[in-house]
Amino acid sequence: MKENEENGLLSVRLLAACDADNMARIAYLWGPVVAALGSWRKRLHPADYKPYASILGDEPPEDVAAAIRGLARTEEWRPAAADVYQRLHPPAPEPERPAAGVTQRPDNTEAAYRAVLDEAVMGAEICDCVPRSPQMDIDRHGVLWCSACGNLEPGQYDQALEWENPTKPEPPAPSTEDIKRWARDEQLLRLRQGKQPSPLLRKLMGGDDETMRKLAATFGLAFSLEVDGDRRP
Ligand SMILES: [Zn+2]
Repeated sequence: MKENEENGLLSVRLLAACDADNMARIAYLWGPVVAALGSWRKRLHPADYKPYASILGDEPPEDVAAAIRGLARTEEWRPAAADVYQRLHPPAPEPERPAAGVTQRPDNTEAAYRAVLDEAVMGAEICDCVPRSPQMDIDRHGVLWCSACGNLEPGQYDQALEWENPTKPEPPAPSTEDIKRWARDEQLLRLRQGKQPSPLLRKLMGGDDETMRKLAATFGLAFSLEVDGDRRP
């Protein structure tokens, strides 16, 4: 708000001078601005100052004049009052830009990843629709849910896991030996529990019944080839 020795806002007095078609008074009240706006060939009339006076009348005149000169790109056109105002009051910078190249969407925030992992811990299943549904629902925590099956969207789940443990390398795929060892251990466990050997485990072990029988014997367990009543060679 700019007041000088006269009473009232400068904008009000300027507008009154415009309405009174009193160019001398406009120039008296607003010298620097009139000089800046007067640097174009086409003369401005008092009425032409009205939009400038109404928007810019209460800004410091020297600042307005500087902004006008800063916007004077062509000899043909004076900058519009709104353009001058925008130069004086540039829009606030965007709040907290994410790192370059990373789009910060509601579904890839830390809060969303935490919510995804919470859901998974609480028993939410991961969507395995094939093909993946193009439709996802996002809840208020930023968690994506497959519209087709209602389970967690797998891409976001993977990202959440990656976010939770970014340094953990991908576990290597189990080797054939790993699978055999696992199947053998599982089979032994079944025998200890007094269960029948599992045909699937036997298959995973490569059908190595002799090894299995020896191994079972070391635990005092009997490995019978009779599986599910089906006698095998
Ligand atoms: Zn699904």
